Amino acid sequence: MNRPSPPHRGRRERALIADLETLDRRLAALEREQRLVRNTLCGIAREIGPDVVIGSVCSHCSRSYVLITDGMLYCPKCKHRRTV
Ligand SMILES: [Zn+2]
Repeated sequence: MNRPSPPHRGRRERALIADLETLDRRLAALEREQRLVRNTLCGIAREIGPDVVIGSVCSHCSRSYVLITDGMLYCPKCKHRRTV
């Protein structure tokens, strides 16, 4: 048997749904921004030279992707560098 929700519960559910919709919009905006930054970063790497590649996340600091060039991995954030 369906009973109508108490008024306070209805307001709470509507507030939660509104919060979820806000978070969903923010997540979509952040994902779009990340794609733009990643595309720009890859474009800059191509402009610098064909032998510069964006690698994986720096295993030393985890705060940047590493740049791979001339057989070296280089982190522009922590300056850690090692051979490939
Ligand atoms: Zn690093």
